Amino acid sequence: MYLYSPSDFTFHGTSPARSDFILDGLRILREQLKQKNIPLAIVTAEERGAKMQKVIEFVKEHDISHIYANMEYEVDELRRDIGVAKQVLEEKTLAFDVLHDQTVVVPGTLTTGSGGPHKVFTPYSKAWLTETKRDPGLLDTVPPPEANDDSAVSNLRKLFDSKIPDLPDSKQFDSAEAQDRIRRLWPAGNAAGMKRLADFLHNKVSDYAAHRSEPARDPSSRLSAYFSSGTISVRQVLQQTKKANGGKHFDAGDAGISAWVREIIFREFYRQVTVTTPHTAMNLPQNLKFDFVEWEDDVEGWEKWCEGKTGVPFIDAGMRQINTEAYMHNRLRMNTASYLRANLLIDYRKGERYFAEHLIDWDLSNNTQGWEPSYTVFNPVVQAEKCDKHGDYIRQWVPELRGLKGKAIFAPHDRLSKEEFEKLGYPYPHVNYSESAQRAKQRYKRDLADADP
Ligand SMILES: Cc1cc2nc3c(=O)[nH]c(=O)nc-3n(C[C@H](O)[C@H](O)[C@H](O)COP(=O)(O)OP(=O)(O)OC[C@H]3O[C@@H](n4cnc5c(N)ncnc54)[C@H](O)[C@@H]3O)c2cc1C
Repeated sequence: MYLYSPSDFTFHGTSPARSDFILDGLRILREQLKQKNIPLAIVTAEERGAKMQKVIEFVKEHDISHIYANMEYEVDELRRDIGVAKQVLEEKTLAFDVLHDQTVVVPGTLTTGSGGPHKVFTPYSKAWLTETKRDPGLLDTVPPPEANDDSAVSNLRKLFDSKIPDLPDSKQFDSAEAQDRIRRLWPAGNAAGMKRLADFLHNKVSDYAAHRSEPARDPSSRLSAYFSSGTISVRQVLQQTKKANGGKHFDAGDAGISAWVREIIFREFYRQVTVTTPHTAMNLPQNLKFDFVEWEDDVEGWEKWCEGKTGVPFIDAGMRQINTEAYMHNRLRMNTASYLRANLLIDYRKGERYFAEHLIDWDLSNNTQGWEPSYTVFNPVVQAEKCDKHGDYIRQWVPELRGLKGKAIFAPHDRLSKEEFEKLGYPYPHVNYSESAQRAKQRYKRDLADADP
């Protein structure tokens, strides 16, 4: 018997939304496989360290001859699979294949003229486009598995009876209403993801280049949860996208499609970064000098950031979106991250973890690279004026400000009289933007100067 292992799924660190989305997706997959007399069995390890042993026990118990798995690139996952490989070596009758399926181009393989892996996005992106044009077979998918004979159902009864686990206690939603809300926003399963893609390609992608940074339009695909959980395949997505582009490659044809595929290439690039700088998967910044910054322990600022009550409307809108939808628009992820690590000067890893524990689309490579600290500090008022010109995104998420007209909505504390501001019931800014941005730059400069990683 062959064992095909979908990605390992660890509850640790992920949100109830993501846990539920994955389990629900597995329930759907299990029913589909059942139609072909193929069992989907879930092996659960209570302790992280026990995973390898569990796999080997399962393999022995069921007389499995060949294990196939998808490659995962994070350090813990690589160590786990190396552990399995070592044990497989001891079993003379067992084979183990780990395949690259997360990306179109295998991470680490696109190299510069001098032979090292690309470390800068634009040249990586050019090389990726050239490579996928040169070898269109990279987008090929394998056919779905053939059905087993009917006898498999009785022969493998125990496996067919294996249950999809319930959400563990630590991953329960706050209320049935929350679970319902999240499930409506994020229907599980491959078919739901592919339908979302079809709708996006039909209705939205051509506006993507011009409007992708305007959160009020909800301009992006919202496919990240499907990508990060392995519910849809990037090859499957790019095949459909190429069709929608009239068969042209992604650097030609519809400008919206080119801009959108650029984000998919970012996803591939960030996996390359994880492979080439593995310490980023171990709670360390890519630029190790940032590990030397003395962060502030601003308990009140942290709570306000989490709750969306910093007194900065664009930031608060973003945080209220994540708390309600388990999702946040990219522009807001950039701004809320910058605000936490610079204006509040709180260790960026606390925010990175908050995202991991609240997002439905948490993805180690994308999240850690997104949180990578730098000297850039976004001005959230300027950003809002540019990306949320009419304040509609802020109005959607910050009801206290819904009645405001004109530019006051971007900085009500500075642009209204004291009396008008206090009537809103909206918090005062926790910090002054300019002073805190200045303080962050000075702190980074001071602490990075002598840093010797
Ligand atoms: C601080 C921070 C944290 C982030 N954390 C995550 C995370 O945990 N999981 C995650 O999937 N993305 C993360 N991103 C990247 C990005 O914000 C999301 O992928 C995107 O907002 C998801 O919405 P979408 O599916 O509608 O994207 P679209 O705009 O429709 O893009 C299509 C796909 O491309 C990929 N993509 C888009 N933008 C990026 C990007 N900047 N970097 C890498 N891949 C990208 C995603 O897989 C996305 O689904 C983070 C960005 C920042 C700045």
